[in-house]
Amino acid sequence: MSDSFGSCPQCGSEKVLRSHRKGVKEKVLKLLTPSIRFYRCHKCGARFIREGRDNNGAK
Ligand SMILES: [Zn+2]
Repeated sequence: MSDSFGSCPQCGSEKVLRSHRKGVKEKVLKLLTPSIRFYRCHKCGARFIREGRDNNGAK
């Protein structure tokens, strides 16, 4: 079970952490896209988002 959120888009590091910031923008995004997840690169500090997908394959 490999997590496929990949790596930092900026530096390519795989040391990315889930971010639990509660900025207003992030709250709004979260409302609009419930499956969205926030990540932060531990190496360069870049923040980025990914859409979390459930493992239900076909629909
Ligand atoms: Zn990075």
